[in-house]
Amino acid sequence: MAAHAGEKARKTGDFFCAKCGEKVHVTAGDTIPECPNGHDEFETRRNEPGNA
Ligand SMILES: [Zn+2]
Repeated sequence: MAAHAGEKARKTGDFFCAKCGEKVHVTAGDTIPECPNGHDEFETRRNEPGNA
């Protein structure tokens, strides 16, 4: 499931850029930022505490 910069994260977790693979950590309720290289499309790879 893909996510995009500017969307609100529904859960805390890590997103991996679909273009360059850079990891971005997002907290639930926060807006998903662009990756450090300026891309805006992410593959979600959740890393939720207690739900590994
Ligand atoms: Zn990127």
